[in-house]
Amino acid sequence: LKEENARHLWHPMGHPGALRETPPRIIRSAQGVSITDQEGHSAVDAVGGLWCVNLGYSNQKVKDAIAAQLQDLPYYSAFAGTTNPSAIEASHAVCEFFAEDGMARAFFTSGGSDSVDTALRLARQYHRLNGAPQRTKFLSLKKGYHGTHWGGASVNGNNRFRIGYEPLLPGCFHLPSPYTYRNPFDETDPATLAQKIAAAMEDEIAFQGAETIAAFIMEPIQGAGGVIVPDASFMKLMREICDRHGILLISDEVITGFGRTGHWSGARHWGVKPDMMTTAKGITSGYYPVGATLVSDKVAEVFEGAGAEGAIWHGYTYSAHPVGAAAVVATLEETLRLDLASNAAARGDQLFKGLQALAERHEIIGDIRGGHGLMAGLEIVSDRGSKTAMDAAGMARIHAATYEAGAMVRLGMHNILMSPPLVITEAEIDTILTALDTGLAAA
Ligand code: PMP
Repeated sequence: LKEENARHLWHPMGHPGALRETPPRIIRSAQGVSITDQEGHSAVDAVGGLWCVNLGYSNQKVKDAIAAQLQDLPYYSAFAGTTNPSAIEASHAVCEFFAEDGMARAFFTSGGSDSVDTALRLARQYHRLNGAPQRTKFLSLKKGYHGTHWGGASVNGNNRFRIGYEPLLPGCFHLPSPYTYRNPFDETDPATLAQKIAAAMEDEIAFQGAETIAAFIMEPIQGAGGVIVPDASFMKLMREICDRHGILLISDEVITGFGRTGHWSGARHWGVKPDMMTTAKGITSGYYPVGATLVSDKVAEVFEGAGAEGAIWHGYTYSAHPVGAAAVVATLEETLRLDLASNAAARGDQLFKGLQALAERHEIIGDIRGGHGLMAGLEIVSDRGSKTAMDAAGMARIHAATYEAGAMVRLGMHNILMSPPLVITEAEIDTILTALDTGLAAA
């Protein structure tokens, strides 16, 4: 299998530097919150697939819903002049799920990158239909991650995800992230940093001209950028600035939606109502590839009111795929029935406290991230004083030794990231912490 894998299955662009030299592990099966590889070694999946398997791997209701839908209607377009019961039910379920966030319509996609590009395209259409076609630019944050399609790649803040694909979409500007450990202001107080970023955003808007900006996109807690938790004031400040200048606020909830932060959405966590939300991952817990871009009444009305005939085509063959839609309905029912947000909050606290305890023993932990549900991270350094980032070999050693000791964690460039299934138990969190202890000692 390893030889076959090397022959045709392409991985090299999917690995951080540290993993490039190691052949990928072949994961054969998964049960509960654990995965088993081809050699028969099992580990608690502290990554939750890829921040997505909120329900764990054994949810029979979701599996049954998918199987039943395959029997009734395996595919029909729910988009170009036709619809189907499964798609209708899923749209109700997801809009109800985010009703408190002000979301009124769901546009289904096949994943997070699709959802982000849909939101960016709809933002430009919204302004065009609203008589402001010059509003085409986008603002985002430096450590933000919004996918790999052209729009998402253009608003991605991290150069690592951009360089080599340029020229990207013109008119995208990246503001500093609320990242207290390292930032251009050398500001360590989270509330002051939030104010400084808000001031930088006002400057950028004044420079660009508010009347040229379509939308600002942000993750309520940045995931792939290293689990960057902003100050509680941050997203509200961003909302105020957007309101002041007629800029749409897109909350990228691909990771934070559906309970991961301990609240049903990341925006709700910070007490903010966005104009649009982009979702994927937890919407089906990884059982089927689905995403959804949600919009508020304010946005929907522009597309549905007078002048809406001017709206220009956007959609996918698999928008509201009936089998995916059935997976959405079952996943959301299970997410609510099991009250995953509460478990995420409780187990997230346990994980964060455990990481703080590890930092007392392991000098290579430079910074601990998390404390808001089941998103956590460690920034690894070779020297705490100078904050020198750990080298790739050291990172690879931590990753491998943690896995051998019983937990799969995610390797960022200089971060160890965790986003376990939201059904995880206290004992399973302890397993992750014990395995990490061993992994950190190995470096
Ligand atoms: N937005 C965010 C916040 C994400 O974390 C991701 C994926 N990690 C995406 C968008 C892109 O999603 P996908 O990989 O499903 O295209």
